[in-house]
Amino acid sequence: ESPAVLAQTAGIDSRQIIRLNANENPYGPSPKVKESLGKCETYHIYPDAYQHTARKALANYTGLPAEDILVGSGSDELIDLLLRATIDPGDKVINCPPTFGMYSFSTYVNGGTLLSVPRNHEFEVNLDGIKKVIDDKTKIVFLTSPNNPTGNLVSRDTVLDLLDENILVVIDETYFEFCQQTLAPLVESHPNLVVLRTMSKWAGLAGLRIGYGIMAPDMLSMLMDIKQPYNMNVAAEVALISSLSDLPYLKSN
Ligand SMILES: *Cc1c(COP(=O)(O)O)cnc(C)c1O
Repeated sequence: ESPAVLAQTAGIDSRQIIRLNANENPYGPSPKVKESLGKCETYHIYPDAYQHTARKALANYTGLPAEDILVGSGSDELIDLLLRATIDPGDKVINCPPTFGMYSFSTYVNGGTLLSVPRNHEFEVNLDGIKKVIDDKTKIVFLTSPNNPTGNLVSRDTVLDLLDENILVVIDETYFEFCQQTLAPLVESHPNLVVLRTMSKWAGLAGLRIGYGIMAPDMLSMLMDIKQPYNMNVAAEVALISSLSDLPYLKSN
């Protein structure tokens, strides 16, 4: 339920509620975001379908080329786009529960068959189990690092091992800013790797829907072709740029 509904049920002010289940940031966004949203004068103009400014700012932030970066309406949209681009009905997608729910949700919506390879008793990914279920119909494996809800990192060796299989490996690095460990530089040498990031959690922008994917240009151009042209709205772009100009504040939160 939304904070407004919960507040009504509990008979308290909605500002007193911090929902923990969605990992929203209780500190909210940078104050610079509110300021720049108030000053923006281009709300009547469609956003840039190619996202030039946003991708350049994210290139500067990540240290990777803008040609490798695509913005989504949240990383949730990118999960859906990757599945749309990659699977036909009946194709298989590997999921490693307990984990984030959108991989299975969007697999089903796109007509995929979900192969569940549960994590072990320490919530580590079961690499042998994953490799055992890969066949001609298996197109994607989703791995979250650090994992939601268990916090485990996926090792570089595990990812390199899976990149040798002929499938798309998606590493969801939503919580990168909390651990500072990333495999994103590997996209330069591995066309079947996609790394997902988001402004929703560390930057407190869940309500404005700004995620991004880091991937080789071939994969990126496929997603660019099938995404809705204006998937990143003007307010989202403004909020992204001003957040990236206020890193010390956000990191101190
Ligand atoms: C919150 C979360 C997301 C969703 O990110 P959005 O950019 O808000 O769509 C994706 N992956 C994981 C692991 C998350 O915890």
